[in-house]
Amino acid sequence: NLQVLLRRRPKGEPVPEDFEIVETPAPEPQEGEVLVRHQYLSLDPYMRGRMSEAKSYAKPVELGTVMEGRTAGVVVASKAPGFAPGDSVAGGYGWQRFSCVKPAGLIKVDPKEAPLSANLGVLGMPGLTAWVGLEDIGQPKAGETVVVSAASGAVGQVVGQIAKIRGCKVIGIAGGPRKCQYVTEELGFDACIDHRGDLKAQLDQHCPEGIDVYWENVGGEVQAAIFPRLRDFARMVMCGVIAQYNVVEGADSFGGPPGPNLGAVVRKRLRIQGFIVSDTGWPRYPQFRKDMLGWMADGRMTWREDVAEGLRKAPEAFIGLLKGANFGKLVVKID
Ligand code: NDP
Repeated sequence: NLQVLLRRRPKGEPVPEDFEIVETPAPEPQEGEVLVRHQYLSLDPYMRGRMSEAKSYAKPVELGTVMEGRTAGVVVASKAPGFAPGDSVAGGYGWQRFSCVKPAGLIKVDPKEAPLSANLGVLGMPGLTAWVGLEDIGQPKAGETVVVSAASGAVGQVVGQIAKIRGCKVIGIAGGPRKCQYVTEELGFDACIDHRGDLKAQLDQHCPEGIDVYWENVGGEVQAAIFPRLRDFARMVMCGVIAQYNVVEGADSFGGPPGPNLGAVVRKRLRIQGFIVSDTGWPRYPQFRKDMLGWMADGRMTWREDVAEGLRKAPEAFIGLLKGANFGKLVVKID
């Protein structure tokens, strides 16, 4: 087995030395387990949290153990009912080539419905995140203005396309002209703003009447520019703040530079709500998958992946993700 372990906890931005790559014997499935050979590993921003000891909604990865992550692959041996060699599955586990898992952690997928790797993106956890967050919190209505940050990424690309399906005006925010062009031309958003430019002026230009739904993936300066432009009764879906994941000090405090004046939450009757996809998402997975496959089939849902070749490239690719080096859902193709 080839595995990527967490060697030490990063201080600020992770570096390659925080990881260790090891070769170990392939695991043997125990009674009730399935042995999966992973073909794709999903790399996601939440993994930065798992590398840290700070209190969070999930336990940190222990030092010296395999990095956590969802995978898609093929069953090679099974001692569990319902799974046979050759089955395609999503939800094997960890930054490694093989894993032994209980069937409860696996979703059997049909490779004819979509490429295997799509089960880690548009049809996987990031797609489910977009679907749940819009349904429960964003609740976009036809004609409303929806702004999505990290718009070309795994979650953002799905959020914006669902909002278009719902009849909204959708404005993306992304880093650089290539990503912005993709967001308007391929994903069909009404406009896309480069956050490296004058964010405030561009927001005023594209959202002259303000913003009804803001999908927060980024935080920091982007959030500061959005907040005063929220309309009465706007919803702010707090999905993530990737710009702040490598910040060491004051992660949970009111300290630091002045933030938005939260008095506006009252005055404008704003709804600002955070959520974690795993709280309520997975029991609704069958409905999500049905919606998504329908939209994919009728051409209203497209997606883009960024594929790193080889498990040994995973640390470098993950470090890049936290700086916007990825273009689309980041996955590793396991050699
Ligand atoms: P993406 O595929 O969007 O990749 C991350 C993107 O974030 C980068 O490509 C970059 O896009 C942007 N970015 C990175 N660093 C910065 C920065 N310093 N300032 C501004 N933008 C930055 O990732 P995901 O779609 O997987 O995740 C998006 C967000 O959703 C994250 O915050 C993540 O933690 C959150 N999330 C939350 C879940 C939940 O349950 N609440 C579940 C899944 C994801 P660009 O170049 O365009 O700036």
